[in-house]
Amino acid sequence: MITLRSHVGGRWHEATGGFVELVDPSTETPVARASTAGIDFAAALAFARDRGGPALRALTFAERAALLKAMSKALYARRDELLDLSTTNGGSTRRDSKFDVDGATGTLAYYATVGAELGERRLLADGDGVQLGRTARFWGQHVWVPRRGVAVHVNAFNFPAWGFAEKAAVALLAGVPVVIKPATSTAWTAARCVEIVIEAGILPEGALSLVAGSSGDLLERLGEQDVLAFTGSAATARTLRGLDNLLSRGTRVNVEADSLNAAVLGPDVAVGSATWDLFVRDVEREITQKSGQKCTAVRRILVPRERLADVRGTLSERLAAVVTGHAADDRVTMGPLATENQLADAVAGTARLASAARIVIGTGRRADGAGAPEGKGYYFPPTVLEAADPGAEVVHQIEVFGPVATLVPYSGSMPEAAALVGRAGGSLVTSLYSDNADDVAEFVAEGGAFTGRLYLGSEKAADQAPGSGVALPQCLHGGPGRAGGGEELGGLRALALYSQRVALQGARPMVERLVGRTQAEPDPA
Ligand code: NAP
Repeated sequence: MITLRSHVGGRWHEATGGFVELVDPSTETPVARASTAGIDFAAALAFARDRGGPALRALTFAERAALLKAMSKALYARRDELLDLSTTNGGSTRRDSKFDVDGATGTLAYYATVGAELGERRLLADGDGVQLGRTARFWGQHVWVPRRGVAVHVNAFNFPAWGFAEKAAVALLAGVPVVIKPATSTAWTAARCVEIVIEAGILPEGALSLVAGSSGDLLERLGEQDVLAFTGSAATARTLRGLDNLLSRGTRVNVEADSLNAAVLGPDVAVGSATWDLFVRDVEREITQKSGQKCTAVRRILVPRERLADVRGTLSERLAAVVTGHAADDRVTMGPLATENQLADAVAGTARLASAARIVIGTGRRADGAGAPEGKGYYFPPTVLEAADPGAEVVHQIEVFGPVATLVPYSGSMPEAAALVGRAGGSLVTSLYSDNADDVAEFVAEGGAFTGRLYLGSEKAADQAPGSGVALPQCLHGGPGRAGGGEELGGLRALALYSQRVALQGARPMVERLVGRTQAEPDPA
């Protein structure tokens, strides 16, 4: 069995005890083990801050961007190996593994491109300068400077490669060293990504560290200049947000947490139209991709009451064709859930939903998987429920992190749809399918504040729309309230988390020389 190593203080650390086993969720066979026993986290953080930080800050944006490009290439060169690992340790089918691994290399490549455009500088202007004095001689200009601490990235189990890359790309481009702590259950893929990057000698010493296993007292040691970027459940987020040191020292914390994303079918959409087809294709994908273990997956499907039977019938047909089973089996289109706990949570969560909604597709129980040993594997086939009462509390509160969604009837009124979307207390993404521009405008006005991203499916967008669940690096990933209130990605906006905004005030030539320009630049905020 493989023993995962951590990389701290510029060295590989292999523990000798305290292991947690990682399993292949398709068969429940143990495949690796991880432990952080024996790591001196204070020393690990100090090394990253004192060695990695200065080395990164000495580089220009273009030079840091070149590192990201090299990271993307190094990972891409090992693509097949990473895809296999994602299948073995994450239970992802080949297609789902590509979503994770190609998402990682693509996001690194994207930040390499935008970073290169920033060129040979280390200071980023934030918006335009402004006259502060009687004349333009006394000038103000906001700038972003890299924070002097370390960025600790605590990630969820579902995207071990992308989760690593989307956070690391931004912090490294901003000039801040990274300590990544992947979720232990699927840490093998993330650990291998870090190993590939470290062994390729791409980054300066201390720029990237890996904690493979529990985080020990790592988070209790973060201070004023550090950043904690967390992705995971709202319950863990609550615990971490409450850490004394983070509160008393004002450590910057970004949270990406649960989300009951909604897909809303507009009342104008006729059965069989291009917009209808996009809606059913997207909803099916959002239920089944990564076996529904996506923070951006659709959990609630809002449908005008008179279309309910059509949507139910179409989804029934499409989901009946899904083959749930061993992730490495070619016939299989949906793999298992990632862990025994995830399976237990999905069964329990569906039972809670079933107290207010009837199961119309699937059973809400474990099943044997195609190509898997009988009784083994964390299989949970696609499951759709239907709520009689659109306001039923549990439908808007229980996030089942699996291939589970609930049909919610509504009248076709946009304010009503927006209010239902808002019942979940804040989402990462909401998708609206409509070709009626007035309805779309009304929905945005009423419901925009409840969501971080609004995906507008329409006939004209249908052939290019990638699906509501894709977190593109150009656009914000994060959502208000229950979704954590965090912000990631969104092009250069993402650098703000790892930077200190400073208002420079002084003689105009002096100020403008510092930012190396006299005209407007991209605004990261
Ligand atoms: P989780 O149990 O909250 O774990 C997330 C991460 O936090 C893991 O790395 C875990 O490490 C770590 N962790 C847990 N307790 C900790 C503690 N007391 N101190 C320090 N670290 C701790 O979540 P998960 O089961 O991996 O992920 C599923 C959840 O994540 C879902 O609710 C989903 O909605 C959410 N999610 C959100 C997004 C987003 O972008 N908004 C993306 C993906 C997932 P160990 O594994 O070592 O325990």
